[in-house]
Amino acid sequence: QQTVYTFGGAAPHDDPRQRDKTITGGKGANLAEMASIGLPVPPGFTITTEESVRYLREGADFSDALRSDVANALKHIEAAVGKNFGDAADPLLVSVRSGARVSMPGMMDTVLNLGLNDATVEGLANTSGDERFAWDSYRRFIQMYSDVVLGLDHGLFEEALEIVKEDNGFYADTELSADDWRALVTEFKALVEQEQGKPFPQDVTEQLWGAIAAVFDSWDSDRAKVYRRLNDIPADWGTAVNVQAMVFGNMGDTSATGVAFTRDPATGNRAYYGEYLINAQGEDVVAGIRTPQYLTKDARETAGAKPLSMEEAMPDAYGELARVFDLLEAHYKDMQDIEFTVERGKLWMLQTRSGKRTAKAALKMAVEMVGEGLIDEQEAVRRVDPMALDQLLHPTLDPDAPRDVMTTGLPASPGAAAGKIVLDADTAEQWSQRGDKVILVRVETSPEDIHGMHAAQGILTARGGMTSHAAVVARGMGRPCVSGASAVSIDRDTRTLRIGDKELKEGDEITLDGAKGQVMLGIVPTVEPELVGDFGILMDWADKLRRMRVRTNAETPDDCRMARQFGAEGIGLCRTEHMFFDAGRISAVRQMILAEDEAGRRKALEVLLPEQRADFTAIFEVMAGLPCTIRLLDPPLHEFLPHSDSEFADLADATGLGVDHLKRRAGELHEFNPMLGHRGCRLGITFPEIYEMQARAIFEAVCAVQKESGEAPLPEIMIPLVATRRELEILRALVERVAEEVFEEQGARVDYLVGTMIELPRAALMAGEIAHEGAFFSFGTNDLTQTTLGVSRDDSARFLAPYVDKGIFPRDPFVSLDIDGVGQLVEMAADRGRATRPDIKLGICGEHGGDPASISFCEEVGLDYVSASPYRVPIARLAAAQAAL
Ligand code: ADP
Ligand code: MG
Ligand code: MG
Repeated sequence: QQTVYTFGGAAPHDDPRQRDKTITGGKGANLAEMASIGLPVPPGFTITTEESVRYLREGADFSDALRSDVANALKHIEAAVGKNFGDAADPLLVSVRSGARVSMPGMMDTVLNLGLNDATVEGLANTSGDERFAWDSYRRFIQMYSDVVLGLDHGLFEEALEIVKEDNGFYADTELSADDWRALVTEFKALVEQEQGKPFPQDVTEQLWGAIAAVFDSWDSDRAKVYRRLNDIPADWGTAVNVQAMVFGNMGDTSATGVAFTRDPATGNRAYYGEYLINAQGEDVVAGIRTPQYLTKDARETAGAKPLSMEEAMPDAYGELARVFDLLEAHYKDMQDIEFTVERGKLWMLQTRSGKRTAKAALKMAVEMVGEGLIDEQEAVRRVDPMALDQLLHPTLDPDAPRDVMTTGLPASPGAAAGKIVLDADTAEQWSQRGDKVILVRVETSPEDIHGMHAAQGILTARGGMTSHAAVVARGMGRPCVSGASAVSIDRDTRTLRIGDKELKEGDEITLDGAKGQVMLGIVPTVEPELVGDFGILMDWADKLRRMRVRTNAETPDDCRMARQFGAEGIGLCRTEHMFFDAGRISAVRQMILAEDEAGRRKALEVLLPEQRADFTAIFEVMAGLPCTIRLLDPPLHEFLPHSDSEFADLADATGLGVDHLKRRAGELHEFNPMLGHRGCRLGITFPEIYEMQARAIFEAVCAVQKESGEAPLPEIMIPLVATRRELEILRALVERVAEEVFEEQGARVDYLVGTMIELPRAALMAGEIAHEGAFFSFGTNDLTQTTLGVSRDDSARFLAPYVDKGIFPRDPFVSLDIDGVGQLVEMAADRGRATRPDIKLGICGEHGGDPASISFCEEVGLDYVSASPYRVPIARLAAAQAAL
């Protein structure tokens, strides 16, 4: 295998391996590509990623093949430039640049001006006729090499430079003369010798190999490791090394260096966008040593800035750059992020890649590029990252507004929320009913806080991770949430809280930035999301291309309406228990649960029936004409029980039963493993009257909506936690009996289906049998993940992060489906279900229904639909389209 590929000059660029980013890295592959289409690229060569992997594996040793290939490739550069490396009279200088498969901004190291030493610096001064430039380059080289290769503290060099500036009353580096730089070089060399006990290397070959090793080693630096973990980049990719002839932006006022985007990466506007600096090199633009200048006259005038734009200061080089922008876009058919240098009026291209962009810009560019004929609709759909849409679906903080950040927690649910602090769910509900905007602040949340979370603009918790109750529910509801903000401490007695050193009380105003995890004092103004224009156009294209339907998980008319606006085509999961927590009826629910016998339960259920019917009627009115999967009661009953003494006292009043009696009954319901306890269809089997009431409420509501509007939804009644065919058989019969009763009473008839959730491994195994009883399966992948992995979602925060870090799971299996494991059960159950009942409807309703990777898997196994929380519906639509392409 070739270890090195040359580019630029007379190099051939036709080996496919050279254009393959996995072999030559992103930078190397694109440098070769630019050279091959005739763009001005300084000649150079790329050492493959394979060599870096081998080097690291073999304990920091270069192979013989690499040594000789590099020597040959260096000759290619020398021939192309007409200078020799290490030649004291007219030296070739090179840069040594890292370049992984994907860009890892600032994660790896670059050395510029390599090849300078005490002799070649004089040659450079002679041939360039610019002594100042030569000595400036040499001091830059010593600084960078000492930092990157020798591992010396770069602060030492900066300090020395600062002292020279102070002594002379200089403000900018550009004020230093050739002699100043020469003196500084002497000082720098002394510093190096003092720090490492030997002189700065004068042998240019030693310099080169030192820099190559440093780039290889930088792959395993702490910085790079952290970056890889945060961005899901495998440790075994390695990095390529690019060695390239230097071009100089620091040769006076006809030279410059800059970075640019072919379109505005923030807005997507079709305008060149970028910054440049005259008489500067490489890092100067981003390092903030001098304030960079605008690229275009327009941008400069809009900003009201004085220093001339590149368009004005160097019109010829700028014209050439604009031509290259257009060539690059036409070639890559995408917005490019480029780095360039102008040496004495001549433009050189040093890098290009697809530019990172905001979601808004991604949409605008994708849609406009279709209009320009650059790409087709499929490509446009493919190009937008579904997850990035999240940024657009929530109100966001005005980016220009000032922020007083008190503390930062986990960015659990994106979006911005501002309002008054409330410390419990009931207060949240009461205050919001009287028209206040509130932020619910809790140590952590539990299912009984749902109504308060719904009433709140946003949620802040002191404890809990990205998959804590607060985080999951908040994302589902589209409420911004900051979780695990450990600097928050709550005092429930005085109804105050401390955040760091600030003392706040209930009613004080705060703002959350759910995307950043920030908690701010006071109200920071927000801007509303816009779902029209480019967003709508791209979604239409996506809808044309997808096969799977997209439904929503929703249990309130508001959520349903919102989901329909976002394009939901039905309900995939309506969790009826959320309706039971409502303030008006929790008392009846508790009476039902604590009743001693069936008669007592039926009495309480009679109170609940009209309430449930009203719930369903309101939902069905919004969802008329669409399928609605309604899950009958699922959680263990004790979740609804009173906790505090005052709640027990209230219940005693309502029932006429003593507090002690109630507490004893509550104690009897205690379970050791509620998740595996008396819940799901087990409730329906043991207390059939509960499911009867729910079925009746559903059918009465459908009939009512049918009568009223002439159009009914299609109810799909879902029995949870089924493990056996017989459970479903019994409960299906129950639902059918109630349906017939209601149809008889109403003198009407509607279509409906009875089916089940597949959320236990046994159900997946027995799917062929179970399908005899159910018309549909909905994969409840939250529970299926818990039960297959034997991992409790509520307790996993403690160990799942380290599991992901160690590569035991590629991602949190509660966020992205464990396709290898749990996925097998899904696939098997789908196959077995279809074998029994070819027209069985198949869908997914876990959190995974809104995760693009999981959605792609659902497409593969041929599910009919996915279901996601309202705010994730557009993400799911786009992901479903991408999965179908
Ligand atoms: P990064 O990946 O961190 O952007 P680069 O390898 O692109 O690092 O190098 C950073 C900067 O150094 C480039 O943007 C460019 O300005 C400068 N640079 C790199 N190689 C050369 C070169 N051969 N000639 C001139 N400048 C160079
Ligand atoms: Mg770069
Ligand atoms: Mg479940």
